[in-house]
Amino acid sequence: MSKGIKLQDKISAATFIPPRVRQSFIRAGFETIEDLVYHLPIRYEDWRRAVTPADVRPGETACVEATIVRIEKRRTPRRKTTLVRFELEGGGARMAAIFFHQPYLLKQFAVGDRVILYGDVEFDREIWTMPAMTHPTLLKKDTAQRRGLPGRFVPIYRRVGSLTSYRIEKTIRAVLERLDPGPDPIPETVRIKHGFPDRLKALRIVHQVDDGGLERPDGIERHPAYRRLVYEDLFMLQVGLAFRRELLETHVPGIAFRIPNDLKERIRGIFPFSLTGAQKRALQEILDDMRRPHPMHRLLQGDVGSGKTAVAIVAMVVAVANGCQAAFMAPTELLAEQHYATLRHHLEAHGYRMALLTGSIRGRARRQVLEQLAAGDLDIVVGTHALFQKGVEYHRLGFVVIDEQHRFGVHHRARMRSKGARPDTLVMTATPIPRSLALTLYGDLDVSILDEMPPGRKPVITRMVTIAQRASVYRWVAGELERGNQAYIVCPLIEESEKLQVQAAVKLYEDLRRGWLKSFRLGLVHGQLSRDKREKVMAAFNAGDIDALVATTVIEVGVDNPRAAVMVIEHAERFGLAQLHQLRGRVGRGAARSYCILVVPARLGEEARARIRVILEHRSGFEIAEKDMQMRGPGELAGVRQSGLARLRVADIIRDAGWIPVVRRDAEAYVRRFLSGGEEQVKEAIRFLRRWAKYYGLVQVG
Ligand code: ADP
Ligand code: MG
Repeated sequence: MSKGIKLQDKISAATFIPPRVRQSFIRAGFETIEDLVYHLPIRYEDWRRAVTPADVRPGETACVEATIVRIEKRRTPRRKTTLVRFELEGGGARMAAIFFHQPYLLKQFAVGDRVILYGDVEFDREIWTMPAMTHPTLLKKDTAQRRGLPGRFVPIYRRVGSLTSYRIEKTIRAVLERLDPGPDPIPETVRIKHGFPDRLKALRIVHQVDDGGLERPDGIERHPAYRRLVYEDLFMLQVGLAFRRELLETHVPGIAFRIPNDLKERIRGIFPFSLTGAQKRALQEILDDMRRPHPMHRLLQGDVGSGKTAVAIVAMVVAVANGCQAAFMAPTELLAEQHYATLRHHLEAHGYRMALLTGSIRGRARRQVLEQLAAGDLDIVVGTHALFQKGVEYHRLGFVVIDEQHRFGVHHRARMRSKGARPDTLVMTATPIPRSLALTLYGDLDVSILDEMPPGRKPVITRMVTIAQRASVYRWVAGELERGNQAYIVCPLIEESEKLQVQAAVKLYEDLRRGWLKSFRLGLVHGQLSRDKREKVMAAFNAGDIDALVATTVIEVGVDNPRAAVMVIEHAERFGLAQLHQLRGRVGRGAARSYCILVVPARLGEEARARIRVILEHRSGFEIAEKDMQMRGPGELAGVRQSGLARLRVADIIRDAGWIPVVRRDAEAYVRRFLSGGEEQVKEAIRFLRRWAKYYGLVQVG
């Protein structure tokens, strides 16, 4: 066995592969030898042992050795296609093999040939006592023997261009015979712990160059060789994330905040409520991080309304008490404006100097904010991406809150952090995501979870109604408004065009204003409203001067009015699960009994029906997120594309979810040990991280 070809070598340089085959792979997007050997079989056929026609049973799949005793070609009477029928004999019995559209078989096979065939056995249609196979794999015995058949499992590959499964098998086999796999990406200790074979061995087993004791053709997913490749996928991702976390948290200098002695009193002064147990726990974790002389990178996860903002406010108060500035970044202008209003509500009376900075703040107003920020005349700034654009200078930025609803990927987080002097960073997600996914999407962050709601929250009563019932729904809404409750009315989602979306919102607003809700004060917000108008409408709604707010999904997050008790969602079937959950989370925040009404067409598609059912039956954002991932696959969840998950080759985030916490722990332990090896090791880790970030398409920090 001549070893020498490396995983990173280009396929074009592998001259032992015929040029035509190389070309086909390259045209299909394969670049390196690594791409080739990670093209895994989709299933296996059991060609280990051939039986005779006497042993085959209809309903089974079989590998058979026999002699051709008769060949017939005819045209099928109705469909006018060519049918070739072989009769085969062995073990004192006969069977048939039938092919349509393949007249050339007549030239390849003759009576008296010894053959091996593989396929599903059924009863012959003509001679109904005789077993038969339609379109089996049919090989002459000597051809089969050259391929080592019978005697092993045969891997079946998804076609690549015009290449057949057998051609792919042969190519990969040739590569694996010559492969120098290089250092194993999974450390030996980890391999031993999980009973994994090394990389070359694993690849040889999965491609069935070595049998590895595989017992059933469908057992590969449980085989240590396959599990190792799954693990490797997840491990590579997690090791990078762990390096990033560790390097930032232990090797990069940050600010060691002092926690004010009177923090408890300050909290009491700021909020009219006391923090929940979960809020206290999360806050403690954040404060512990803040004390350390390295930058914090923590994720605060909690369901809608669990009180994340309150926790963030306390952390910012601590930063400001240390003479630092804090920045609070939201994904949309409306949300930034809402957060700004909340922060002012809680903090302004205590003398904090605050400003808003978004894209629509321009000219003099903008220049003024920038000057104040640079001069240190502002303590807290709230805004959108505008907070971290060129030209924005901070006097002393010490703390950053990112309320992200996974709209920013690792990308943005990285860019943010590189601005200024290593501030502590707190990321908040409002839409819970499954833990397995969180550990990957946010794998470079430590995680705190708010798993408890503020007291007094009542479940939102959720109902589905059809469009035909709209009149009675709005009559009922009118009754609620009469009683002093407020309502949100969300217009149908139109994703294709912002313009059409605005038109839809305006139309619904006009219809309701002139029709069913004409005796009430209505407001309208959508994405194209100027900041001034938007702020006025929201302020009026929050003050109770507007009874019902017609809105697009701009109100999905951050809007917080405890007197809003009704949420009507028109064409709810057009919304995703996370969106529906977010929208519903806008109500149920006050004393009144709250409702969420999903208006849908009478005829609903299967998938839409399933989605609505999930919202009707589940209340916890975490449960809904799990369902969402199961129904749509992780690829569709926001943020996944930038997360490195797209690069997983063997692992499946749903099927292999159970592995992820294990892999993360292993990766962490490995990375700690590695980094304790001294400066050289740290440099090596930084080099690794550069390659890693490039591979996963992530931005490198530090
Ligand atoms: P999230 O950002 O997690 O969706 P918020 O921080 O916006 O949640 O809080 C939702 C509402 O609950 C706000 O009106 C907030 O003032 C209130 N709230 C937060 N924490 C508590 C608490 N411990 N007790 C009572 N109300 C709280
Ligand atoms: Mg919030």
